[in-house]
Amino acid sequence: MNIDVLIAGAGHAGAQAALMLRKLGYAGAVALAGAEADPPYERPPLSKAYLAGEEPFERMMMRPKEAWAELNIDLLPGRKIVSVDPTAHEARCEDGERITYGKMIWAAGGTPRRLPAPGGDLAGIHVIRTRADVDAIRAGLDSAGNIVIIGGGYIGLEAASVLVCMGKRVVVLEAQERLLARVAGPALSAFYEKEHRGRGVDIRLGAKIEAIIEKGGRPAGVRLAGGADLPADLVIAGIGIAPEVEPLIAAGAEEALGGVKVDQFCRTSLPDIYAAGDCAAHANRYAGGAVIRLESVQNAHDQAAVAAASIAGAAKPYDAVPWFWSDQYDLKLQTAGLSSGYDRAVLRGDPDSRSFSVVYLKDGRVIALDCVNATRDYAQGRRLVAAGGACDHETIVDPGAPLFKPAARKG
Ligand SMILES: Cc1cc2nc3c(=O)[nH]c(=O)nc-3n(C[C@H](O)[C@H](O)[C@H](O)COP(=O)(O)OP(=O)(O)OC[C@H]3O[C@@H](n4cnc5c(N)ncnc54)[C@H](O)[C@@H]3O)c2cc1C
Repeated sequence: MNIDVLIAGAGHAGAQAALMLRKLGYAGAVALAGAEADPPYERPPLSKAYLAGEEPFERMMMRPKEAWAELNIDLLPGRKIVSVDPTAHEARCEDGERITYGKMIWAAGGTPRRLPAPGGDLAGIHVIRTRADVDAIRAGLDSAGNIVIIGGGYIGLEAASVLVCMGKRVVVLEAQERLLARVAGPALSAFYEKEHRGRGVDIRLGAKIEAIIEKGGRPAGVRLAGGADLPADLVIAGIGIAPEVEPLIAAGAEEALGGVKVDQFCRTSLPDIYAAGDCAAHANRYAGGAVIRLESVQNAHDQAAVAAASIAGAAKPYDAVPWFWSDQYDLKLQTAGLSSGYDRAVLRGDPDSRSFSVVYLKDGRVIALDCVNATRDYAQGRRLVAAGGACDHETIVDPGAPLFKPAARKG
């Protein structure tokens, strides 16, 4: 098989790259080779409405199947790329098929990390990354009264909110001393801890897992350091991902943060190979120029657009404001910017009202916002962050005052 642009990974970044190529008028042969059997679908509902059984898979598909054919985008489902020869411009699939390419976009995302504890590799420990993962969880739900979720990040907490609302006894084990410690400030952590506890989720902070308790080859509980045993009919691990980049690194690509390093045009260090999405480590202006990896739909889409534009001859550097969202219960969290490195966090509104924002500043400038049921703050805050973040304290603390006022047009 010979393809002008071969895209490895048919998730958010891969699908978006293919669509952007066509939108930009690129006429060459484009193929989306994805390890999963399904056509490209939205991943966020997996830990939300799809887990809850409220959204059918068909509604999560990014495009109806026929639409890909109409755009002349070749879907190659079930095709995991296992090696790349950058000199020969050739990729090899798990089934042995070889595909030669002109350009390649590596958009293979990541694989959920396994628990680093005895029993952590038992087959029955669930993760949430693909449709198949959630189908497996749902298949065991009827007979599951006790559920232990390991990891108090967004995915673990979204799953907890869905499962406790189904009437399950849910325990969340978090190794850190607060929830969401990697991504948010203490005020937001405290708010979500209170919300979850209020709904009956048993949250254990600073939890150290000694082992997964096994019965008949399946997980039956979790043993905590200190001796406490938690029974579990279902164990779900949400402890992050490892970027899927092994074939590129084996081919000599520069590595960073466990992913593949890309420049501002999403080029890897290998000729004619770009990368986008969760697997792509890049220098980000909103992180003060530090090299980071972002795991968000925004980043996957925007990096994919940059890679596609470079290939289509309309190159522009990556420079998007990071944003993210999370749905738990009736709470919509929307995040703009990156809060890491902040030196001051200011509350805007009252968390008890369940509509408020946490505004993060560095050197007197707003660098990020976490907005809970506060869509207006989010929309204005995103523009404020993009514009450099200058905002006085009185405005920040007054929920009635707009965070961003566009400069009046002259003339
Ligand atoms: C449960 C869940 C909920 C989320 N919720 C949110 C949210 O609310 N908001 C938000 O902004 N983000 C959310 N995210 C994050 C967001 O979905 C990811 O950041 C986004 O999917 C990244 O896109 P990607 O294309 O890099 O990776 P993916 O979408 O994971 O796509 C990668 C694809 O590549 C395939 N693949 C892997 N290896 C290979 C290979 N060697 N060859 C070919 N194909 C391969 C994979 O099977 C996968 O289909 C969520 C993620 C999950 C898992």
